[in-house]
Amino acid sequence: MRKIQMVDLKGQYEVIKDEVNASISNVLETSTFINGPEVHAFQKELEDYLGVKHVIPCANGTDALQIAMMGLGLKPGDEVITADFTFAATVEVIALLQLTPVLVDVELDSFNIDPVALEKAITPKTKAIVPVHLFGQCANMDAVLEIAEKHNLFVIEDNAQAIGADYTSENGSKQKAGTMGHVAATSFFPSKNLGCYGDGGAIFTNDDELAHTLRGIVNHGMYERYHHDVVGVNSRLDSIQAAVLRSKLSRLDSYNARRRAAAKKYSKAFEGNKNITVPQMANGCAEICDSCDCHVFHQYTLRILNGQRDELVKHLAEKQIPCGVYYPIPLHRQKAYLDERYQEKDFPVTNQLVKEVISLPMHTELDDEQITFITQTIIQFIG
Ligand SMILES: *Cc1c(COP(=O)(O)O)cnc(C)c1O
Repeated sequence: MRKIQMVDLKGQYEVIKDEVNASISNVLETSTFINGPEVHAFQKELEDYLGVKHVIPCANGTDALQIAMMGLGLKPGDEVITADFTFAATVEVIALLQLTPVLVDVELDSFNIDPVALEKAITPKTKAIVPVHLFGQCANMDAVLEIAEKHNLFVIEDNAQAIGADYTSENGSKQKAGTMGHVAATSFFPSKNLGCYGDGGAIFTNDDELAHTLRGIVNHGMYERYHHDVVGVNSRLDSIQAAVLRSKLSRLDSYNARRRAAAKKYSKAFEGNKNITVPQMANGCAEICDSCDCHVFHQYTLRILNGQRDELVKHLAEKQIPCGVYYPIPLHRQKAYLDERYQEKDFPVTNQLVKEVISLPMHTELDDEQITFITQTIIQFIG
C-alpha cells in the first residue's frame, strides 16, 4: 500500500506535471512575474467557472477577507458576526481592522453558523455577517441572506474551504459558493481544493462599484498611477501561481468529484456505527451526490460519540494514518479573542464539536486500499 497522506500534493502534481512545468517555464521565459497574462486569464476563467462578475486575485485568503472588509467601508467598532467554529483567519482580520468580532454557535449537523444564534447576536452596531462554508459545504445561505436583508447587513462569504461547491436554495435555484453574498473571499493555499504552489487568494463580487474599490485597495489604494485615493495594501497573486491555478481550475470539478467519491466510500464503511457520525448533507441533498457538488469535502470530518476521539488520534498515529482535529479549541476561548459578552451556555455545539471531531485523509489521490485500511483501523478501535 502507498503511504497514506493527509493531502497528497505530490501525487496530484505527477499527473499534471508536463502541463504545469510548461506553463511555469513560459512565465519564466516571458518574465512577466506580476500582473502578467496568466493572472488575467485565470481571473477570467474563474469568473466564468463561478458565474460571478468580478474576481479580484490577491496574495492569500486572509488578505482576501481583510480587503473585502476594507472595501465595504466597515469602521472601527462595527460588529461583525461569524462562527465560533472556524479557522482563526476569519476572526483575525475582523479584529485587525478594529472591528468587533462577535462569535456565535454553529449547527451540529452542518458545522456551519446557526441562523438562530446569529440573529440573536445582532445589535444596533452589527454591520456584517461572515458565514464560513466549513469543510466544503455551504452555510444555510437562505437563512443568512434573509437575516442580512431584514437587518440591512453585509454578507461576506468565507469560501476558503468550499470553492466549486453548489448551493441549492429553497426555491430550487443553484449557485456556486462565494457568489451569493455581497462579497466573498477564497484561499489558494496548496492544500485547499483549488490550491497553488505557494500562497494565493481571491475576492469575488457581483457589485461593479465594490469591485472597482477592491482593485484599488489591493494595489496600494491606487486607481490612477501614483494617485492614492484610499489607504490600501499590497496583495498580489503572482503569474507562476496563476499558471498553476489555470491547470488545476480546468480539473476542479473532477478533483471535487474524486473527493466526493472517497467521502462516499468512507461513509459507506461507517454506516450504522453507533459511535461514529459521518458528515451530514445540510442543504437539500439527502446524501452525498454523484452529480452535484453540494459538498466538496475540503475535509472529511467524523464525530466520535463515545468519548474516545483523543485515543483514536493516538491510535491512528501508531498505525501511520495521518488525521487532523479541526478545530480543537473554540475561538471564543482563544486568548486573543476573549470578550466578556461570551457565556459558555451560548456555545453548546462548538464546545461539543471540539471534543468529538476528527478529520480523515482527504485528497484527490486516495485509493480504495488506503480507504479500506483507514476505515477498518478506525472501526476495529472504536467498535
Ligand atoms: C485557509 C483559510 C483561510 C485563510 O487562507 P490563507 O490563504 O491561508 O490566508 C481563511 N478562512 C478559512 C476558513 C480557511 O480555511
